[in-house]
Amino acid sequence: MNERLSAADLDFDRRHIWHPYESMRNPTPVYPVASARGVRLTLADGRELIDGMSSWWSVIHGYNHPALNRAAREQISRMPHVMFGGLTHAPAIRLAQRLVELTPGDLDRVFFSDSGSVAVEVAIKMALQYWRARRVEGRTRLLTIRQGYYGDTFQAMSVCDPVTGMHHLFSGVVQQQYFAGAPRVPYGGNWDPPDLDPLRELAERHRDEIAAVIMEPIVQGAGGMRFYHPEYLKGARELCDRLGLLLIADEIATGFGRSGELFACEHADVVPDIMCVGKALTGGYMSLAATLARAHVAEAIASAAGAAGVLMHGPTFMANPLACAIANASVELLLDSPWRKRVARVERELRRGLAPCRELAQVADVRVLGAIGVVETHKPVDVARIQSRLVERGVWARPFGRLVYLMPAYVMSVRDLRQLCAAVCETVALESA
Ligand SMILES: *Cc1c(COP(=O)(O)O)cnc(C)c1O
Repeated sequence: MNERLSAADLDFDRRHIWHPYESMRNPTPVYPVASARGVRLTLADGRELIDGMSSWWSVIHGYNHPALNRAAREQISRMPHVMFGGLTHAPAIRLAQRLVELTPGDLDRVFFSDSGSVAVEVAIKMALQYWRARRVEGRTRLLTIRQGYYGDTFQAMSVCDPVTGMHHLFSGVVQQQYFAGAPRVPYGGNWDPPDLDPLRELAERHRDEIAAVIMEPIVQGAGGMRFYHPEYLKGARELCDRLGLLLIADEIATGFGRSGELFACEHADVVPDIMCVGKALTGGYMSLAATLARAHVAEAIASAAGAAGVLMHGPTFMANPLACAIANASVELLLDSPWRKRVARVERELRRGLAPCRELAQVADVRVLGAIGVVETHKPVDVARIQSRLVERGVWARPFGRLVYLMPAYVMSVRDLRQLCAAVCETVALESA
């Protein structure tokens, strides 16, 4: 089905369909896209855009990849879906085997779900059930760091940055958690041990109320696009060990190579007790996520008597075979590729290409890690205007707030990367200083 959209269709979209974080009364314009191949989106009017977003961290191999298309076709003709209660199948078993093997340390129990936010809910539920099963009362809250993003469901939202996460909209509803100031020492900066003090002080003061510490390892994504020092993550792991707290690592944005390591925890050699993956897991084809736990977490939950001994979660589309089959193909494709070299090439070009932005009066900071490039402005950008200027220059990016950022597919050519960066520098220069 390759039908043309009329003006009336787009008007229907504007009046009747919510887009992410968008007003229904006065939405910013949307661009109809007709197809996508490699690193390019083709708009309905025929314009081609170099995609700088990988559809929110997920399309790491580019769109419409023959190997992933083949995996999808083969699985769809065999069994697109079957419930996971009382049944199992090869795509889920193979994928769990791969995840157990690839993820850090002894994370070896796997729970499949259908989106990142749900994977975070499941991680938090595991932590809460863990303490209940061990008959430890009162450990019902979470400790995290500011400027985080963990998803849009209620428990995930409760640990998102209280300001950018819009907690005031849900005051009295969203659970109150403990927030340490965001890490100050950046990745690549000189480590300063007092950076950990705020986290340590909160953990020590409230240890008997805290079920788990939850963090995005190294890269704080949608909550601020910040890269912090690996020693901070190491220190958080030591703190959790010393105080007997669980550590949850949200690798939904960082997993599968984005930060330069397969998983960002590897920058610090840290093994969390619970870890979430999603986004790039299927190469951006399907919605699929997983929560992995170490044996001691799973065993503690299972040791509780009766009904309390089971993890109380089971999505309808749990371990969807189509999504698992594509995930298997995507992970294989990644591991068979020179992904480290490719991510390093993207990193080098982002560093070079975004460096001129530093000279602009509009710009507060430029930072790059792995295949992630960030230009932080002093004032919020006008999203509709900057987006239309980027599109005029043949580029797709979706800035928010004071952040214009790029996270290209690892396969993007040097030439395309240069055009992408040049367009960002040109359009940021046109914003008001
Ligand atoms: C995107 C994201 C999520 C939420 O994933 P969804 O699939 O959008 O629900 C959670 N944590 C992090 C770090 C993310 O980047």
